[in-house]
Amino acid sequence: MIETGRQSGQGEQPRLPMQGVVQPTKAEVTKLPHVHISSHPVMAHKVTMLRDKHTSTPQFYQLVKEIGALLAYEATSSLALETSIIETPLEATTGYNLAGGIGITPILRAGLGLAEGFREVIPDVQVWHLGLRRDERTLQALEYYNQLPHKVNLQVCYAVDPMLATGGSAIDALNILKTRKIPRLCYLGIIAAPYGILRLSQAHPDIEIYVAALDETLNDRGYIMPGLGDAGDRQFGTL
Ligand code: URA
Repeated sequence: MIETGRQSGQGEQPRLPMQGVVQPTKAEVTKLPHVHISSHPVMAHKVTMLRDKHTSTPQFYQLVKEIGALLAYEATSSLALETSIIETPLEATTGYNLAGGIGITPILRAGLGLAEGFREVIPDVQVWHLGLRRDERTLQALEYYNQLPHKVNLQVCYAVDPMLATGGSAIDALNILKTRKIPRLCYLGIIAAPYGILRLSQAHPDIEIYVAALDETLNDRGYIMPGLGDAGDRQFGTL
């Protein structure tokens, strides 16, 4: 068991949320089960462009969508299929259809671009919007919007949020999704910190985590380093 938490022996209360918090290394989390870090060269290329501080807002949003499409492709590779007989113009043949619906839950607002890219690969997904805001002082996730239906017919639902930093929003989103009794839940993100991966997989050991890149650490304010800055601000031009 890899431990995280505040270092012992610190007398005074830290001023910044991640100050003094022990974080796991990349090596410690890459061997965890259910963790998938993309090794696709096109993904690495696009993530590099995304990180660059000179990338403009429209380019950034376009890249997030493209990465969302690549992640959708990687994260759906083991979905269940059912067969049906169809007629081609020439003869009858066995066809394959996804067995049950697919849902995506973009965590507002930063998850919107990824969800849009995902929909370009699988247009007939259900999109369940969930608004979680992080309290910058405590880094706790607070729910402010919830459009999850009560009637569910999905084989899988993906919680999508570009940055897996402390894991707070992802853990809360998956807690909320679990109330809908979906057979399979996954998390999809662009960049993860080892700390976020560890906390998410400890809180939800049953879910698959798909990310485009794994970074070094979180800084004292809870930002992923080297990261890309604020994924919401960079997508929507609110810098
Ligand atoms: N959210 C972001 O947008 N960026 C980070 O680095 C961490 C959380």
